[in-house]
Amino acid sequence: MILVTGGAGYIGSHTVLALKEAGYKTVVFDSLERGHRDLNFGDVFVEGDLRDYDQIESVFRAHPIEGVVHFAASSLVGQSMAEPEGYYLNNLTGTLNLLRAMRTVEVSRIVFSSSASVYGEPETIPITEEAKKDQTSVYGETKYWIERMLDSYCRSYGFGAIALRYFNAAGCDPACRTGEDHTPETHLIPLVLDVALGRRESISVFGDDYPTDDGTCVRDYIHVTDLAEAHVLSLKKLFDEGQSFRASYNLGNGKGYSVSQVIEVVREVTGHPIPTEIGPRRAGDPAVLVASSALAERELGWSQAHADLKEIVETAWAWHKKRFS
Ligand code: NAD
Repeated sequence: MILVTGGAGYIGSHTVLALKEAGYKTVVFDSLERGHRDLNFGDVFVEGDLRDYDQIESVFRAHPIEGVVHFAASSLVGQSMAEPEGYYLNNLTGTLNLLRAMRTVEVSRIVFSSSASVYGEPETIPITEEAKKDQTSVYGETKYWIERMLDSYCRSYGFGAIALRYFNAAGCDPACRTGEDHTPETHLIPLVLDVALGRRESISVFGDDYPTDDGTCVRDYIHVTDLAEAHVLSLKKLFDEGQSFRASYNLGNGKGYSVSQVIEVVREVTGHPIPTEIGPRRAGDPAVLVASSALAERELGWSQAHADLKEIVETAWAWHKKRFS
Protein backbone atom coordinates (compact mmCIF):
# COMPACT_ATOMS: atom_id res chain seq x y z
CA MET A 1 0.00 0.00 0.00
CA ILE A 2 1.02 3.60 -0.54
CA LEU A 3 0.48 6.20 2.18
CA VAL A 4 -0.67 9.54 0.75
CA THR A 5 -0.46 12.38 3.26
CA GLY A 6 -2.69 15.29 2.26
CA GLY A 7 -4.48 12.90 -0.10
CA ALA A 8 -7.85 14.65 0.34
CA GLY A 9 -6.48 17.91 -1.06
CA TYR A 10 -6.24 19.18 -4.62
CA ILE A 11 -3.11 17.52 -6.03
CA GLY A 12 -3.30 14.65 -3.52
CA SER A 13 -6.79 13.53 -4.59
CA HIS A 14 -5.73 13.50 -8.27
CA THR A 15 -2.66 11.48 -7.38
CA VAL A 16 -4.67 8.94 -5.39
CA LEU A 17 -6.79 8.38 -8.52
CA ALA A 18 -3.64 8.00 -10.66
CA LEU A 19 -2.13 5.53 -8.15
CA LYS A 20 -5.36 3.50 -8.19
CA GLU A 21 -5.30 3.42 -11.99
CA ALA A 22 -1.70 2.18 -11.81
CA GLY A 23 -2.80 -0.68 -9.54
CA TYR A 24 -1.66 0.61 -6.13
CA LYS A 25 -3.80 0.44 -2.98
CA THR A 26 -3.70 3.65 -0.96
CA VAL A 27 -4.10 4.90 2.61
CA VAL A 28 -5.03 8.59 2.70
CA PHE A 29 -3.94 10.46 5.83
CA ASP A 30 -5.36 13.99 6.01
CA SER A 31 -6.30 16.39 8.81
CA LEU A 32 -9.08 17.83 6.59
CA GLU A 33 -7.84 21.25 7.63
CA ARG A 34 -7.82 22.15 3.93
CA GLY A 35 -8.89 18.88 2.32
CA HIS A 36 -12.34 17.41 1.77
CA ARG A 37 -13.74 14.10 2.92
CA ASP A 38 -15.70 13.70 -0.31
CA LEU A 39 -12.46 14.04 -2.32
CA ASN A 40 -10.90 11.03 -0.64
CA PHE A 41 -10.49 8.16 -3.11
CA GLY A 42 -8.18 6.10 -0.95
CA ASP A 43 -8.90 2.47 -0.08
CA VAL A 44 -8.47 3.53 3.56
CA PHE A 45 -9.02 7.02 4.97
CA VAL A 46 -7.48 8.16 8.26
CA GLU A 47 -8.29 11.60 9.63
CA GLY A 48 -5.15 12.62 11.45
CA ASP A 49 -2.50 15.28 11.89
CA LEU A 50 1.20 14.87 11.10
CA ARG A 51 2.05 17.20 13.97
CA ASP A 52 1.07 14.30 16.27
CA TYR A 53 3.83 11.69 16.01
CA ASP A 54 1.83 8.84 17.57
CA GLN A 55 -1.00 9.25 15.07
CA ILE A 56 1.23 8.81 12.07
CA GLU A 57 3.24 5.96 13.56
CA SER A 58 0.02 4.07 14.31
CA VAL A 59 -1.03 4.33 10.64
CA PHE A 60 2.19 2.60 9.59
CA ARG A 61 1.62 -0.08 12.23
CA ALA A 62 -1.96 -0.71 11.07
CA HIS A 63 -1.33 -1.05 7.31
CA PRO A 64 1.27 -2.78 5.09
CA ILE A 65 2.69 0.48 3.72
CA GLU A 66 5.63 0.23 1.31
CA GLY A 67 5.99 3.80 0.13
CA VAL A 68 4.84 7.35 0.87
CA VAL A 69 3.68 10.31 -1.22
CA HIS A 70 3.80 13.40 0.98
CA PHE A 71 1.54 16.35 0.08
CA ALA A 72 0.42 17.49 3.53
CA ALA A 73 1.60 21.04 4.17
CA SER A 74 0.52 24.60 4.72
CA SER A 75 1.07 26.35 1.42
CA LEU A 76 -0.06 29.99 1.39
CA VAL A 77 2.92 32.24 0.66
CA GLY A 78 1.42 35.39 2.19
CA GLN A 79 0.25 33.60 5.33
CA SER A 80 3.70 32.06 5.76
CA MET A 81 5.17 35.58 6.05
CA ALA A 82 2.48 36.76 8.50
CA GLU A 83 2.48 33.60 10.65
CA PRO A 84 5.81 31.80 10.09
CA GLU A 85 5.67 29.69 13.25
CA GLY A 86 2.69 27.69 12.00
CA TYR A 87 4.59 26.96 8.78
CA TYR A 88 7.70 25.73 10.55
CA LEU A 89 5.51 23.63 12.81
CA ASN A 90 3.30 22.07 10.16
CA ASN A 91 5.76 21.70 7.29
CA LEU A 92 9.02 21.01 9.14
CA THR A 93 7.83 19.25 12.32
CA GLY A 94 5.09 17.43 10.41
CA THR A 95 7.58 16.12 7.86
CA LEU A 96 10.12 15.20 10.53
CA ASN A 97 7.44 13.18 12.34
CA LEU A 98 6.64 11.40 9.08
CA LEU A 99 10.30 10.59 8.39
CA ARG A 100 10.85 9.42 11.99
CA ALA A 101 7.82 7.13 11.78
CA MET A 102 9.01 5.76 8.43
CA ARG A 103 12.41 5.02 9.91
CA THR A 104 10.87 3.34 12.96
CA VAL A 105 8.80 0.94 10.84
CA GLU A 106 11.45 0.61 8.10
CA VAL A 107 9.58 2.20 5.20
CA SER A 108 12.13 4.09 3.18
CA ARG A 109 10.64 5.34 -0.10
CA ILE A 110 9.14 8.82 -0.28
CA VAL A 111 7.96 11.20 -3.00
CA PHE A 112 7.72 14.76 -1.71
CA SER A 113 5.72 17.79 -2.95
CA SER A 114 8.32 20.46 -3.29
CA SER A 115 7.80 23.72 -5.12
CA ALA A 116 9.18 26.25 -7.57
CA SER A 117 9.35 28.53 -4.53
CA VAL A 118 12.67 26.88 -3.52
CA TYR A 119 14.30 28.99 -6.26
CA GLY A 120 13.05 32.49 -5.41
CA GLU A 121 13.77 35.08 -8.13
CA PRO A 122 15.23 33.29 -11.17
CA GLU A 123 18.41 34.50 -12.87
CA THR A 124 17.72 32.60 -16.09
CA ILE A 125 14.62 31.19 -17.82
CA PRO A 126 13.74 28.37 -18.15
CA ILE A 127 14.58 27.37 -14.58
CA THR A 128 16.58 24.15 -14.27
CA GLU A 129 17.18 22.13 -11.12
CA GLU A 130 20.69 23.60 -10.67
CA ALA A 131 19.42 27.19 -10.51
CA LYS A 132 20.27 29.28 -7.45
CA LYS A 133 18.01 28.54 -4.49
CA ASP A 134 17.29 31.76 -2.67
CA GLN A 135 13.77 31.59 -1.27
CA THR A 136 11.70 34.73 -0.88
CA SER A 137 9.10 33.31 1.55
CA VAL A 138 8.94 31.20 4.69
CA TYR A 139 6.83 28.73 2.70
CA GLY A 140 9.67 28.37 0.17
CA GLU A 141 12.21 28.00 2.98
CA THR A 142 10.25 25.12 4.51
CA LYS A 143 10.20 23.30 1.16
CA TYR A 144 13.95 23.86 0.77
CA TRP A 145 14.72 22.58 4.28
CA ILE A 146 12.55 19.52 3.81
CA GLU A 147 14.60 18.74 0.70
CA ARG A 148 17.71 19.00 2.87
CA MET A 149 16.15 16.61 5.42
CA LEU A 150 15.56 14.16 2.58
CA ASP A 151 19.23 14.49 1.56
CA SER A 152 20.25 13.49 5.08
CA TYR A 153 17.80 10.61 5.37
CA CYS A 154 19.02 9.20 2.04
CA ARG A 155 22.69 9.66 2.90
CA SER A 156 22.59 8.43 6.48
CA TYR A 157 19.65 6.01 6.63
CA GLY A 158 19.50 4.62 3.08
CA PHE A 159 16.15 6.23 2.18
CA GLY A 160 15.09 6.70 -1.43
CA ALA A 161 13.53 10.12 -2.01
CA ILE A 162 12.31 12.17 -4.95
CA ALA A 163 11.29 15.80 -4.52
CA LEU A 164 9.00 17.12 -7.25
CA ARG A 165 9.21 20.88 -7.64
CA TYR A 166 5.83 21.85 -9.05
CA PHE A 167 5.22 25.11 -10.82
CA ASN A 168 1.53 26.21 -10.95
CA ALA A 169 -0.75 23.21 -10.67
CA ALA A 170 -3.91 23.89 -12.65
CA GLY A 171 -6.90 22.22 -14.29
CA CYS A 172 -8.87 19.28 -12.96
CA ASP A 173 -9.50 15.59 -13.55
CA PRO A 174 -10.83 15.34 -17.14
CA ALA A 175 -13.50 12.93 -15.84
CA CYS A 176 -14.47 15.58 -13.25
CA ARG A 177 -14.21 13.21 -10.26
CA THR A 178 -12.13 15.72 -8.28
CA GLY A 179 -10.79 19.22 -8.66
CA GLU A 180 -9.59 22.38 -6.98
CA ASP A 181 -11.45 23.57 -3.86
CA HIS A 182 -9.16 25.74 -1.74
CA THR A 183 -10.38 28.10 1.01
CA PRO A 184 -9.08 30.71 0.70
CA GLU A 185 -8.41 30.38 -3.03
CA THR A 186 -5.23 32.12 -4.17
CA HIS A 187 -4.65 30.55 -7.60
CA LEU A 188 -5.37 32.56 -10.73
CA ILE A 189 -7.49 30.17 -12.80
CA PRO A 190 -10.10 29.28 -10.12
CA LEU A 191 -10.25 32.96 -9.11
CA VAL A 192 -11.04 33.99 -12.68
CA LEU A 193 -13.56 31.14 -12.94
CA ASP A 194 -15.22 32.53 -9.81
CA VAL A 195 -15.90 35.71 -11.80
CA ALA A 196 -17.41 33.66 -14.64
CA LEU A 197 -19.65 31.88 -12.12
CA GLY A 198 -20.77 35.14 -10.45
CA ARG A 199 -19.03 34.36 -7.14
CA ARG A 200 -16.73 37.36 -7.54
CA GLU A 201 -17.26 40.69 -9.36
CA SER A 202 -13.91 41.12 -11.11
CA ILE A 203 -10.34 39.91 -11.11
CA SER A 204 -7.43 41.98 -9.81
CA VAL A 205 -4.31 42.01 -11.96
CA PHE A 206 -1.24 42.88 -9.90
CA GLY A 207 0.85 45.02 -12.20
CA ASP A 208 0.72 45.55 -15.97
CA ASP A 209 4.14 47.16 -16.35
CA TYR A 210 6.40 44.09 -16.15
CA PRO A 211 8.98 43.54 -18.91
CA THR A 212 6.76 40.94 -20.67
CA ASP A 213 4.89 41.10 -24.01
CA ASP A 214 1.65 42.43 -22.49
CA GLY A 215 3.09 43.79 -19.23
CA THR A 216 1.52 41.14 -16.94
CA CYS A 217 3.42 38.38 -15.12
CA VAL A 218 4.15 35.14 -16.96
CA ARG A 219 3.71 31.83 -15.15
CA ASP A 220 3.98 28.14 -15.94
CA TYR A 221 0.70 26.19 -15.60
CA ILE A 222 0.89 22.41 -15.46
CA HIS A 223 -2.17 20.18 -15.63
CA VAL A 224 -2.75 18.45 -12.31
CA THR A 225 -3.34 15.09 -14.02
CA ASP A 226 0.12 15.32 -15.61
CA LEU A 227 1.52 16.17 -12.16
CA ALA A 228 -0.27 13.18 -10.64
CA GLU A 229 1.29 10.87 -13.25
CA ALA A 230 4.76 12.10 -12.31
CA HIS A 231 4.19 10.80 -8.75
CA VAL A 232 3.36 7.33 -10.04
CA LEU A 233 6.52 7.34 -12.19
CA SER A 234 8.59 8.60 -9.24
CA LEU A 235 7.37 5.83 -6.95
CA LYS A 236 8.18 3.24 -9.60
CA LYS A 237 11.65 4.73 -9.97
CA LEU A 238 12.22 4.60 -6.21
CA PHE A 239 11.18 0.94 -6.08
CA ASP A 240 13.54 0.20 -9.01
CA GLU A 241 16.56 2.18 -7.84
CA GLY A 242 17.15 0.58 -4.45
CA GLN A 243 18.65 2.32 -1.43
CA SER A 244 19.92 5.87 -1.07
CA PHE A 245 18.53 7.19 -4.34
CA ARG A 246 17.88 10.94 -4.14
CA ALA A 247 16.69 13.29 -6.90
CA SER A 248 14.73 16.52 -7.38
CA TYR A 249 12.80 17.25 -10.56
CA ASN A 250 11.04 20.35 -11.86
CA LEU A 251 7.54 19.79 -13.17
CA GLY A 252 6.13 22.48 -15.39
CA ASN A 253 4.57 23.08 -18.75
CA GLY A 254 7.70 24.65 -20.16
CA LYS A 255 5.54 27.28 -21.79
CA GLY A 256 4.70 30.50 -20.00
CA TYR A 257 1.35 32.25 -20.13
CA SER A 258 0.74 35.80 -18.96
CA VAL A 259 -2.05 36.73 -16.55
CA SER A 260 -3.82 38.54 -19.43
CA GLN A 261 -3.53 35.46 -21.67
CA VAL A 262 -5.06 33.26 -18.96
CA ILE A 263 -7.96 35.69 -18.51
CA GLU A 264 -8.49 35.76 -22.29
CA VAL A 265 -8.66 31.95 -22.45
CA VAL A 266 -11.18 31.95 -19.58
CA ARG A 267 -13.29 34.46 -21.56
CA GLU A 268 -13.15 32.16 -24.58
CA VAL A 269 -14.04 29.01 -22.62
CA THR A 270 -16.81 30.50 -20.42
CA GLY A 271 -18.23 33.18 -22.71
CA HIS A 272 -18.10 35.63 -19.77
CA PRO A 273 -16.57 39.13 -20.29
CA ILE A 274 -14.47 38.85 -17.01
CA PRO A 275 -13.99 42.46 -15.84
CA THR A 276 -10.47 43.18 -14.60
CA GLU A 277 -8.98 45.77 -12.23
CA ILE A 278 -5.34 46.70 -12.65
CA GLY A 279 -3.60 47.16 -9.31
CA PRO A 280 0.00 47.75 -8.22
CA ARG A 281 2.66 45.03 -8.41
CA ARG A 282 2.87 42.64 -5.43
CA ALA A 283 6.17 42.58 -3.57
CA GLY A 284 8.34 39.63 -4.53
CA ASP A 285 6.46 38.66 -7.72
CA PRO A 286 9.05 37.89 -10.44
CA ALA A 287 8.11 38.92 -14.02
CA VAL A 288 8.54 35.42 -15.49
CA LEU A 289 8.63 31.92 -13.93
CA VAL A 290 8.92 29.09 -16.43
CA ALA A 291 10.35 25.62 -15.77
CA SER A 292 12.54 23.29 -17.69
CA SER A 293 11.23 19.77 -17.02
CA ALA A 294 13.84 18.13 -19.26
CA LEU A 295 15.37 16.18 -16.36
CA ALA A 296 12.02 14.64 -15.33
CA GLU A 297 11.36 13.77 -18.97
CA ARG A 298 14.73 12.08 -19.25
CA GLU A 299 14.97 10.31 -15.90
CA LEU A 300 11.32 9.54 -15.11
CA GLY A 301 10.12 9.08 -18.69
CA TRP A 302 7.50 11.73 -17.90
CA SER A 303 5.61 13.66 -20.55
CA GLN A 304 2.59 15.92 -20.61
CA ALA A 305 -0.75 14.76 -21.97
CA HIS A 306 -2.72 17.95 -21.19
CA ALA A 307 -0.32 20.82 -21.82
CA ASP A 308 -2.71 23.04 -23.77
CA LEU A 309 -3.91 26.04 -21.72
CA LYS A 310 -7.40 25.84 -23.23
CA GLU A 311 -7.71 22.22 -22.10
CA ILE A 312 -6.44 23.15 -18.65
CA VAL A 313 -9.10 25.87 -18.36
CA GLU A 314 -11.86 23.68 -19.84
CA THR A 315 -11.28 20.92 -17.29
CA ALA A 316 -11.12 23.47 -14.44
CA TRP A 317 -14.35 25.12 -15.67
CA ALA A 318 -16.23 21.79 -15.84
CA TRP A 319 -15.26 21.09 -12.22
CA HIS A 320 -15.92 24.63 -11.04
CA LYS A 321 -19.49 24.56 -12.38
CA LYS A 322 -20.12 21.13 -10.87
CA ARG A 323 -18.72 22.04 -7.46
CA PHE A 324 -19.75 25.65 -6.94
CA SER A 325 -22.90 26.46 -8.93
P1 NAD B 1 -4.13 21.33 -0.50
O1 NAD B 1 -4.22 22.31 0.62
O2 NAD B 1 -5.32 21.15 -1.38
O3 NAD B 1 -3.70 19.91 0.06
C1 NAD B 1 -2.92 19.74 1.21
C2 NAD B 1 -3.63 18.73 2.09
O4 NAD B 1 -2.82 18.48 3.24
C3 NAD B 1 -4.97 19.24 2.61
O5 NAD B 1 -5.96 18.26 2.32
C4 NAD B 1 -4.75 19.41 4.11
O6 NAD B 1 -5.92 19.16 4.87
C5 NAD B 1 -3.65 18.41 4.38
N1 NAD B 1 -2.80 18.73 5.54
C6 NAD B 1 -2.17 19.91 5.80
N2 NAD B 1 -1.47 19.82 6.96
C7 NAD B 1 -1.67 18.55 7.43
C8 NAD B 1 -1.21 17.84 8.58
N3 NAD B 1 -0.44 18.43 9.50
N4 NAD B 1 -1.58 16.56 8.75
C9 NAD B 1 -2.39 15.94 7.83
N5 NAD B 1 -2.87 16.57 6.73
C10 NAD B 1 -2.51 17.86 6.53
O7 NAD B 1 -2.86 21.76 -1.36
P2 NAD B 1 -2.43 21.36 -2.84
O8 NAD B 1 -2.61 22.55 -3.71
O9 NAD B 1 -3.03 20.05 -3.22
O10 NAD B 1 -0.87 21.17 -2.62
C11 NAD B 1 -0.34 19.91 -2.21
C12 NAD B 1 1.15 20.04 -1.96
O11 NAD B 1 1.78 20.55 -3.13
C13 NAD B 1 1.52 21.01 -0.84
O12 NAD B 1 2.62 20.46 -0.15
C14 NAD B 1 1.94 22.27 -1.59
O13 NAD B 1 2.86 23.02 -0.85
C15 NAD B 1 2.57 21.69 -2.83
N6 NAD B 1 2.54 22.60 -4.00
C16 NAD B 1 1.34 22.99 -4.54
C17 NAD B 1 1.33 23.82 -5.67
C18 NAD B 1 0.04 24.24 -6.33
O14 NAD B 1 0.09 24.89 -7.38
N7 NAD B 1 -1.14 23.90 -5.79
C19 NAD B 1 2.54 24.26 -6.21
C20 NAD B 1 3.74 23.84 -5.62
C21 NAD B 1 3.72 22.99 -4.53
